[in-house]
Order: sequence, then structure tokens, then C-alpha cells
Amino acid sequence: MSVDHATPASFYANQPDRGHYYEIALQIPKSGFDFFAGSGFLKPTTTLKKEEATDVHVILEKSGYKIVKGKKAFLNKDYNNQKVVWINDDPKNTASLKFAIDQDTEDMTLEDITKGAIKHLSQNNDKGFFLMVEGGKIDWSSHSNDGGTTLHEVIDFQKTIQLAYDFYKQNPKETLIVVTADHETGGLVIGNGSSKLNTAALAHQKVSQGTLSSLIGNLRNDKPNASWDEIKQLIADNTGLFTHLKVSKGDEESLFKAYEKSFVNHVNETTKTLYANDDKLAALSIKILNKIASLSWGSTNHSAGYVPVYAIGEGAELFNNKMDNTDIPKKIAQAAQLNF
Ligand SMILES: [Zn+2]
Repeated sequence: MSVDHATPASFYANQPDRGHYYEIALQIPKSGFDFFAGSGFLKPTTTLKKEEATDVHVILEKSGYKIVKGKKAFLNKDYNNQKVVWINDDPKNTASLKFAIDQDTEDMTLEDITKGAIKHLSQNNDKGFFLMVEGGKIDWSSHSNDGGTTLHEVIDFQKTIQLAYDFYKQNPKETLIVVTADHETGGLVIGNGSSKLNTAALAHQKVSQGTLSSLIGNLRNDKPNASWDEIKQLIADNTGLFTHLKVSKGDEESLFKAYEKSFVNHVNETTKTLYANDDKLAALSIKILNKIASLSWGSTNHSAGYVPVYAIGEGAELFNNKMDNTDIPKKIAQAAQLNF
């Protein structure tokens, strides 16, 4: 996620709207926080009024923040006693980190960020610290109703929780970990013909729906009249459909119809959701895979479903029963014996 995105911004900035990206970033120095990390900034040189303004990176450096770019740059060096903003050095991915399912070893991950944050904040610090880490793209893949990608995002988030848990085990009397969500996305339910989740089916998914969409788009550019067998092979290689997972006659027909429209009649069809506009063939393939895995989606937006709150450590007993999400920061402050 970018450093100026809604969730991190709500912890350090105060603006009338989440879309005030430039103005949100300008509030970083005033926060006085020691450590920020994410993919980058969404509008580093453009104000709300669409005017060009001094680059946010320059303003941050001038106000005493060290901007560190790239995965290795931070992990290999000590920025002890310096205020840091750590961002991606990949210009294609400043808006958000790649989906975990699409990442390779060179890519900056949420786990890297968490490891770096805990190291930076705990060194030479006897006052304690507060750290917020967001697994924000669980929401994005859920907006696209992409089950396999969501599963990988949750596993990615789990790895960051493990790091926090390891820290807790070393400092059990002075650590509180709270894991929750600001909302559910997609109305996701296990049960789509069967009530048994088929994770083995989802394991065949090799790329996110967005990347599958790009692969189909690339094939369309290279071979505008590609055959049905070629398309089928591309879908099979990336989702396991046809080769490892049986596709019903009706589902194959709907895929074939989308293929005909796209590669024979040359009408591009896309499925638009909040953060993506994916090729119809990609969206349909993922939908079929989700059905085989027994996942059903009720929405492509946020739902009013209850979200869990997990807590462990000092003050964890404060987090019990049904509660309003606005109580969570109050309870954290109570556990930390802070008075506001
Ligand atoms: Zn969302």
C-alpha cells in the first residue's frame, strides 16, 4: 500500500477526504512518527487543486526524514536514530506492493517492512513503541472476487503476524498484539454448491486475476486471432482449469463465448471493480476456479459482515465480546496506560 493510503493516513493525518493524497503526505513531518513504509506516494507532486507543487520526497528530506528506496537498501543498513520513510525503488509499483501471488524474490514484501519496522523501532528504545501494519491488498483482491490471490494475501499477512508474535514471545510482559480489520470485503462465504473449502484447487492458481488479464491482453496483441486451444492452454497454465480441474460444460461454454467475442469478433470485454478492470476471460476463469474451490462472493465492495478481533499479550483481556471498532484505539490506549 502507498504511505498516503487511507488506513496508514488515518493514523498520522487529518484531512476531510482520503483522496487528499498530497495534503496527507505533507502531514508526515507534523506527526513526528519515527518510521513510515510502503510502496510510495500516489500524488507526490500534485495538490488537491491539481496544481504542481514541491515534491513530497524533497519536503520530507528537508524536514529530517531519510528516504530509503528499495528492499535491500533498508535491510542491509542501520538507520539507527534517524527518522525513516522506506519506499519501493520499482517505479512500476509505487501505488501499491505487488500481490503476494505475483511477487518474486526481488520484490519488497509486507514481511520485509514489518521486520524492518520492528528492528528500527525497538533498537535503543526503552520507552516502547506502537506499530500499525496493514495487509491492505486482502481488500483489493476481494474487491475483484479473486479467491486464490486473497488466500495468498492472508498468508502474507500471517507472516507479518508471526514476526510480531516472535517479538511478543521475547517481550511477553510488555507487548500487546491486536489483529483486526476495518471491514469485510466481498461478502466472502465458504460454500458454493459444497460446504467444504477446496484449497487444493486454489493452489493451482499461479497469478492474480489482474496478471492473468495482462497475459491474455499480451496474447491478444501478439496474436489477435489466437485459437481457442491457445487460450485454453494459457488459462490452464495459470489456473489449473481443464488440466487439473474439471470444468463443467456450461462453464466451458461461457468461457468459449467470451473467447469468440474477444478473439474472433474482436470486441474487448472487461469486468470493472474498484481497483481493477480485468479481461472478461480472466474474470470468468477465476470465477469458475472459485466455484470449484467452494468460495462464493456476494459483492464486489465492502460488506457489513462482522470482523474478528484477535488479541494476545498485556491487556488482551480488554478485547472481548462484540465491540464497536471505535473502542479498539481506546482499549489499546488503556492497555498501554496512556491517557488522552
Ligand atoms: Zn476496499
